Amino acid sequence: ESKHALMDQMAIRRALTRISHEILEKNKGVDDCILIGIRTRGIYLARRIAALIAEIEGVSLPVGEIDITSYRDDRVKVDSVEEVYHGGSLQIEQKKIILVDDVLYTGRTVRAAMDALIDLGRPEMIQLAVLVDRGHRELPIRPDYVGKNVPTSKTEKIEVLLSEIDEQDAVMIQQL
Ligand code: 5GP
Ligand code: MG
Repeated sequence: ESKHALMDQMAIRRALTRISHEILEKNKGVDDCILIGIRTRGIYLARRIAALIAEIEGVSLPVGEIDITSYRDDRVKVDSVEEVYHGGSLQIEQKKIILVDDVLYTGRTVRAAMDALIDLGRPEMIQLAVLVDRGHRELPIRPDYVGKNVPTSKTEKIEVLLSEIDEQDAVMIQQL
């Protein structure tokens, strides 16, 4: 098994800063935008983007969380959307939702997240930000904001470490 580094702490910070600027530019500000992080690491990335946008623009965006592990189309028992969405009282009706995840692969997780959110209300728009796009899509899903494009083989895996839970910031590629 071999492993090598793709992004260090500074590279991750620069990528998230660029994504924050791109979000501001594409949406001409962030009126009516909310960030929703997908389960574990997408949530920390969404919070970091919110903090960067607050630094840049002086506006603090609401951040919600979604855990679609039990909502995917390849599961036998599918939980209700109330069980998977942890946005609290966060309103999504007529909002521009920016979904945030660490790695985009087949696209099935994002599809399930979009399904869950559309079941909950009627967002005006859904956009997608990912730290790493590793390719191999099985659905017609494309991110609006990408930290780094990393062409991978299916036997490789991206390791994303975030200091909030992993004690360091790093992105590595691992040959299994
Ligand atoms: P997808 O549903 O697009 O196939 O996979 C995306 C989801 O699985 C994301 O939530 C992501 O965290 C996880 N994932 C898929 N591939 C990788 C990978 O190579 N590394 C990491 N860290 N997560 C992955
Ligand atoms: Mg994940």
